[in-house]
Amino acid sequence: MNTDYYEILGVSRDASPEEIKRAYRRLARQYHPDVAEGDGAEEQFKEVTRAYEVLSNPEKRQMYDAGVDPSAPGGGQGFGQGFGFQDIFETFFGGQTARRGPVPRARRGQDALVRLEIELAEAAFGVHRELQVDTAVTCPTCEGSCCRPGTSPRTCEVCGGHGTVQRVARSFLGQVMTSSPCPTCHGFGTVIPEPCPECSGEGRVRARRTLSVDVPAGVETGTRIKLPGQGEVGPAGGPPGDVYLEVRERPHATLVRQGDDLHCSLPVPMTAAALGTVVSLETLDGTREIDIRPGTQPGEVVTVRGLGVGHLRGAGRGDLHVHVDVQVPSGLDAEQERLLRELAALRGEERPEPRLAPAQPGMFAKLRDKLAGR
Ligand SMILES: [Zn+2]
Ligand SMILES: [Zn+2]
Repeated sequence: MNTDYYEILGVSRDASPEEIKRAYRRLARQYHPDVAEGDGAEEQFKEVTRAYEVLSNPEKRQMYDAGVDPSAPGGGQGFGQGFGFQDIFETFFGGQTARRGPVPRARRGQDALVRLEIELAEAAFGVHRELQVDTAVTCPTCEGSCCRPGTSPRTCEVCGGHGTVQRVARSFLGQVMTSSPCPTCHGFGTVIPEPCPECSGEGRVRARRTLSVDVPAGVETGTRIKLPGQGEVGPAGGPPGDVYLEVRERPHATLVRQGDDLHCSLPVPMTAAALGTVVSLETLDGTREIDIRPGTQPGEVVTVRGLGVGHLRGAGRGDLHVHVDVQVPSGLDAEQERLLRELAALRGEERPEPRLAPAQPGMFAKLRDKLAGR
């Protein structure tokens, strides 16, 4: 059997991956059992494929160049005695061998995600909250040692404290020694002869705690607030993870938030819009007088600076935009109708000429929909 894979593919020893692929495609077409005729085609096809499998894989090719045939049955020929599996492994795979030595029992705990519902006003000004969280905490009885008080971990007798056991395994390199985590101590190198009764040897227990949080102004739905070190304590009293508070802002009855600005819709009777008025408006800062100037048109926006949501970064606040919704009177009684007709006559508006306003791109359509709750 020819085991010179470069010769089989008809390429030089420094052939590029592309050259190897091209050579294989050509030969595979030539010898493919579906197309090739005659004896030996199938054997040649297999040979070509085996050569390609080795040379197309950078690791196998490197191994092959070093004198090992990774595809040979019982492989590993070409290595001198005393050249251990780990050394070979490190040579070819850059030291990706199994960990040496025992692994620490204590590991970092997980992060915890806690949802936090807040009102718009709380988002606008910031709020202090006390939160109940359920997380793992260090076991108070054994203080994370996992052992019944007065006892201590013992060196594992199976692995002698190394945390790993060696065994002989078959691999593509033939019979090799591999090391794997010790099944008795799970790689820790020690065993707990008498587990702590409170935590069953976990080193941690679940507990309800109260977290004190200052939620800054400017947070919004989706904002995550990190509380470092307030998460789950790890196994065997390992360092805790973090808590992330994910904010959800409850919709407000009358105010719609866009960034740090607020919008509201203010119904104003037609007469008041025409004559001008002062309206008392409930804002996040209490009642504010809003000036509606004479001749205010439907959809006009009165902006009040600084009555919006506090900026999360930096000082200052957004604005409050009051969208004036002019209400046309309906259900007029006789006297009201008479007065309106008189006004229309005075203004020459009894039969207004139809004049279409120039078309406008739907700049505010989105916002109008939002205000209308669509
Ligand atoms: Zn305990
Ligand atoms: Zn062990």
